[in-house]
Amino acid sequence: MARVFLGLGSNLGDGRANLDRALELISVRVGTLLAVSDYIGSEPWGFASEHRFTNAVCAVETGLGPMVLLDITQEIERQMGRTHKHAPGESYTDRIIDIDILSYDDVSMHNERLTLPHPLIDQRDFVKIPLQDCINKLST
Ligand code: AMP
Repeated sequence: MARVFLGLGSNLGDGRANLDRALELISVRVGTLLAVSDYIGSEPWGFASEHRFTNAVCAVETGLGPMVLLDITQEIERQMGRTHKHAPGESYTDRIIDIDILSYDDVSMHNERLTLPHPLIDQRDFVKIPLQDCINKLST
């Protein structure tokens, strides 16, 4: 079993309800939820939008390998109605749900679909703050 941290974000519709739904699907399809951070609000990052984000980080124990985990998190995004993934070079857009794999145990890897740990964690307070909160909750 592996311990993974997932970053969740939503800026369309009811952000809190979207994160609740994503966490429910993650617990069914990915594995046991070990901890969930508080939800925070944040400004859109990397693109202009009037819709603020709701963000959270969860820790999950999973038997899925990294690539299957990516397949499943992307399926959950589609299941929740996300139709458009931005391609490299395209700008970010509003999204009902975004699920990023922040880390997978201590695995370090890079291929055309997946980079671990997620390379942009340090640049993003909306990831760093809930990640630290989630780690704190794991240890209490
Ligand atoms: P997104 O930010 O959800 O629009 O993701 C864009 C692309 O990033 C996806 O098509 C993934 O294949 C790729 N990707 C690379 N590394 C990761 C990661 N650690 N977690 C999630 N997606 C990743």
